[in-house]
Amino acid sequence: EFPRRSFPVASLGAVSEVTAAGVIGTGTHNTGIQHGILPTQVRPQTAIPGILGKGKNSQDFLWNGGKFPEFRLREVAFPSTLTQVLDELEQHLSNSRYFRFLWFPHTENVRIIYQDPTSQAGIPKIHGIPGCWFWDYAVGYHLLEFLLWISSFFPSLVVWINRVFFRLLFSSRQESVGRSHRVLNYECRFSQHVQDWAIPIGKTREALLELKAALDREPGVGAHFPVEIRFCRRDRIPLSPCFQRDSCYINVIMYRPYGREVPRRRYWQLYEGIMRQHGGRPHWAKAHGCRREELQEMFPEFPKFCALREQLDPSGIFLNPYLEKIFF
Ligand SMILES: Cc1cc2nc3c(=O)[nH]c(=O)nc-3n(C[C@H](O)[C@H](O)[C@H](O)COP(=O)(O)OP(=O)(O)OC[C@H]3O[C@@H](n4cnc5c(N)ncnc54)[C@H](O)[C@@H]3O)c2cc1C
Repeated sequence: EFPRRSFPVASLGAVSEVTAAGVIGTGTHNTGIQHGILPTQVRPQTAIPGILGKGKNSQDFLWNGGKFPEFRLREVAFPSTLTQVLDELEQHLSNSRYFRFLWFPHTENVRIIYQDPTSQAGIPKIHGIPGCWFWDYAVGYHLLEFLLWISSFFPSLVVWINRVFFRLLFSSRQESVGRSHRVLNYECRFSQHVQDWAIPIGKTREALLELKAALDREPGVGAHFPVEIRFCRRDRIPLSPCFQRDSCYINVIMYRPYGREVPRRRYWQLYEGIMRQHGGRPHWAKAHGCRREELQEMFPEFPKFCALREQLDPSGIFLNPYLEKIFF
């Protein structure tokens, strides 16, 4: 909706088919240590019944859009290793406005992605070999889904899939330029389960090396690629995973090829254990196994939020089974 209205925002998540309310309510984020989670772009607003504001476009009063005229981004993606990217983390964070990286679990392989404002004309995304539909979709989507489906019967195949797909699709340098929302959004492929906890940025190295060691010890876990690592600036939003601390989000994924559930319990256990140990806080739109007692340890303002929620909704009209698990 924002791009259609020529209403660019400073940062967007992986997909744009979302509502402002959904994005605000769940604390959606992208990456770039200069940028907070998306709700930090919203200005406080006092609601007067029936009137949102005096301007032509009521969203002007809610979203900080005015500060961001339309802009283009140049994306440069290149291969690296986990050890190297962690050794040079500070440098990467300052090199690029929207820096993130993808790690291919059960391997050392990493894909670094820089995205930065540019005045350059558009360069479409072309894979190293001409014919991007073939590589991006025939191989990167359909063949991958088929192989992941096969691997659901033979989990040890996942290690091989992660290696081969890195070599085929992610091991060369690529460059593209486009309108900001097109570059910030990306293909999330098929149906999936994800977890995406935020840990203090200073814990990035330890947490990732521990996750790697745990997966190296248990290759049978069959962790799908990619593990996506993104960074966000601290904020003062009470239930934000980045409340009062610059954060690193580590997103883990298990696909459901052709809708088939692939066992993920052990992976989730290892991942959640490491995230908890490093002061992690879960993402509100993604899977997690936390309950109220734990959440109030993780989010210092949680009790205050619960008290306010109880005051505003004393009979629990806005509760659902998920929220009951969290608030009681
Ligand atoms: C393919 C995919 C990629 C994603 N990528 C990212 C990413 O890169 N980064 C990230 O942080 N997240 C990501 N997410 C999560 C996504 O940003 C959130 O799920 C977001 O909430 C989706 O917005 P929605 O409009 O679909 O919200 P919904 O799922 O419809 O709603 C989310 C919550 O907001 C509430 N809500 C919705 N509308 C209103 C309203 N009008 N008033 C009050 N409450 C309301 C709903 O009740 C619900 O609790 C991704 C999700 C998908 C499916």
